[in-house]
Amino acid sequence: METNIDWKNLPFGYLKTDFNIRAYYKNGQWSKPEISSDEHMPIHIAATCLHYGQEAFEGMKAYRGKDGKIRLFRWDENAHRLQHSARGVMMAEVPDDLFIECVTLAVKKNERFVPPYGTGASLYLRPLLIGTGAEVGVKPASEYTFMIFVTPVGPYFKEGFNPVKIAVVRDSDRAAPQGTGTFKVGGNYAASLRGVIKAHKAGYGAPMYLDCVHKQFVDEIGAANFFAIKDNTYITPKSESILPSITNKSLVHLAEQMGLKVERRPVDFNEINSFEEVGACGTAAIISPIGEIYDIDKETTYKFCKDGKPGPISTKLYETLLGIQFGDIPDPYGWVTFVE
Ligand SMILES: *Cc1c(COP(=O)(O)O)cnc(C)c1O
Repeated sequence: METNIDWKNLPFGYLKTDFNIRAYYKNGQWSKPEISSDEHMPIHIAATCLHYGQEAFEGMKAYRGKDGKIRLFRWDENAHRLQHSARGVMMAEVPDDLFIECVTLAVKKNERFVPPYGTGASLYLRPLLIGTGAEVGVKPASEYTFMIFVTPVGPYFKEGFNPVKIAVVRDSDRAAPQGTGTFKVGGNYAASLRGVIKAHKAGYGAPMYLDCVHKQFVDEIGAANFFAIKDNTYITPKSESILPSITNKSLVHLAEQMGLKVERRPVDFNEINSFEEVGACGTAAIISPIGEIYDIDKETTYKFCKDGKPGPISTKLYETLLGIQFGDIPDPYGWVTFVE
């Protein structure tokens, strides 16, 4: 069956597809994956995901190459991070084999929604793990649901690979140092919304969070990791409250291959002015080059990309990673898995 989707003008939003995949954990074991065409799921009113935030998710994409084949990028990293998040909020872990079985089914059953090569669009996958067992006391559920829905998406940032503007927010934190920052859980996103809205109201695309103790070191940019380029070095924050981005991990590897030095260390906000290039990175946009950082409290603006264009190193990293994901350039690192 054909689709009449305008692939080139897809928003980064939800579009109904044909099927989603579900698996259920009960009595200590996982069910086989189930294929559903229902966009809703019945949930017990006392489910722990609703009351106590027992929930974690992933975000990944399937890419169609010039050869028509569909590729996944480092899916095992997403599986392992979901297991890490599950341990973080005391949920049953989804084993690798169940994870990839569900991912493969989700892509194949919705194959007509995988955007054609050359449109810049891809199929976004949203694996979700929730506590569905009923509890009223505060304790982990004994039942869980793992599900994956997919939706075709265009580029995350409407401007494409162009500089974005961000604002520093100090009066809210997304996660505490020994809290849930390294887990991809919904609670961190709820906690980040005040900062997101504050940045938007000030006319900026996303908030920059500083470390919550000293408000001195850079943590993250909204739901993306931060990196900077200076003196042929790729610098990215080391912090107990940031999410380990798979995109960032891949960029670190590519930077090393390109002959850059890599520093993972606390990044003092006062250093910002000395950076040659700064960017945010994550699956949705790969790299969003940052053109402007506005410090709301100090009413100070820091500008980058003075000619209005992303820096040369950010551009090369972006093109290399995107090229590997779509299969335009070789994948010497074994990052790509074909969906067959
Ligand atoms: C998902 C996420 C990222 C990006 O991770 P990727 O694996 O690169 O997509 C960064 N920060 C936060 C807070 C996230 O939730």
